[in-house]
Amino acid sequence: MATRTQIYKEILREYDALRTEQAAKLRQRKEEIYRRLPRVREIDETLSMLGVQTAKLVLLKPGDMQDALVEMRAKQKELQTERRMLLESIGLTPADMELKYVCETCKDTGYVDNVPCTCLKQKVMDKLYDQSNVRDIVKVENFDHFDVRLYSEQVSKKKAFLPEKTPCRFCVRRWLLWKTSLMGGRTSCFTAQQA
Ligand SMILES: [Zn+2]
Repeated sequence: MATRTQIYKEILREYDALRTEQAAKLRQRKEEIYRRLPRVREIDETLSMLGVQTAKLVLLKPGDMQDALVEMRAKQKELQTERRMLLESIGLTPADMELKYVCETCKDTGYVDNVPCTCLKQKVMDKLYDQSNVRDIVKVENFDHFDVRLYSEQVSKKKAFLPEKTPCRFCVRRWLLWKTSLMGGRTSCFTAQQA
């Protein structure tokens, strides 16, 4: 049985594999878009170059920085508008040229500011659940297989409150109502039957 540390390590490897997979998909999408729209590649290269040029200017001629920034932003805006229109011409958006994440909150890292993300907590719970074999048990021991006839109707002489080993029928009705009200009656609930 895997320890919690092993489970965490396994999940972090899964996040790593997921990010690698998404990065590969992005490269493929970009190559396909560049093939269809060569102008988009030119624009992307120009936008990268503009950023580098501005950084150099800021370092070498700080006095001219303000004018350079205004000019760069105007040029960036113009190119981004052209890029967006080109992408839209083939039914895409700029988001299609960005990484996609299963969890936008933590960007598939499992953490936000060094705090475990809810998706990481859920993965840990799922793995612990799988490991416990409860999932397999619930496939068999659920309300679909529940049969109240298996329980004795006779009242226990010792306890004299409820029939010995008999589930409270009121409770059973409540459970069945609960089951029916959830997910169209497909929800299962583990219950023990008389041996
Ligand atoms: Zn997350």
